[in-house]
Amino acid sequence: MTVFLPAVEPTLPASEVVWHFAFVTGKLLVPDEANLQLLTVSQTLFMPSAQSRHYLGRLEGIDCWASVLPAEPVGWKAVPLRAAMMQMPEPLMMVAARAAQVLEWDRAHRYCGACATPTEIRTGERARVCPACGHIVYPRLSPAMMALVWRGEELLLARSPGFAPGIYSALAGFVEAGESIEDCVVREVAEEVGVTVRNLRYYGSQSWPFPHSLMVAFTAEWVSGEIVPQEGEIEAAGWFPIDALPGIPPRFSISGHLIRDTVAAIRDGSLR
Ligand SMILES: [Zn+2]
Repeated sequence: MTVFLPAVEPTLPASEVVWHFAFVTGKLLVPDEANLQLLTVSQTLFMPSAQSRHYLGRLEGIDCWASVLPAEPVGWKAVPLRAAMMQMPEPLMMVAARAAQVLEWDRAHRYCGACATPTEIRTGERARVCPACGHIVYPRLSPAMMALVWRGEELLLARSPGFAPGIYSALAGFVEAGESIEDCVVREVAEEVGVTVRNLRYYGSQSWPFPHSLMVAFTAEWVSGEIVPQEGEIEAAGWFPIDALPGIPPRFSISGHLIRDTVAAIRDGSLR
């Protein structure tokens, strides 16, 4: 198990090399010729020109920084975060996701949302504070549920507009203020496909930095109702036998893990 120890301030002594997650206009810098699976710490770059710089913590003893640069340095290119993450080993991928969210929070809270005074970095925790009114802003997290509805040996999979061609996935939706995640699962499944569910089982969660979601995934057993796709949200939905699934997301996202692991659980009889 890879150990990442988050921290707001670096501890001394600093590590000899660092991971530097640098972004230009919201995209992650990678070496021009990089195969990100093969990236090593010796290929990291120090970037003194950073406009904004945040310490993230240590990944297996190596200091990790996030920063924003004004332009791409020679020999590096800025690529969309999602594409970069898909090529990274998982521990690095998760630190890159963390870097993106910290920088996005920092960018979006330069001024107090209550009184418009410029905010300041608060020492000792990941927060910006307004010196005029005391309003404190922490990195924003938006919890969202993911639900894989099953019925016997079939899975309910759906497409949203914007999915890659041919790809189907589990249902997903944001938690509303005042709502539990379990309530959200029941509501979103009813809204998106018109069916009722029970027997919710927690599967796992994943930080999803597009831009700041926390995906919380469940399996849910179908109880009643025929599929009626929600207009504008669901382009197509259907029941798929576990041995005849359509294209599904890669394991990169929790949906990819959830669907594959649920198929295995149905096959071995452990999902009931
Ligand atoms: Zn204020």
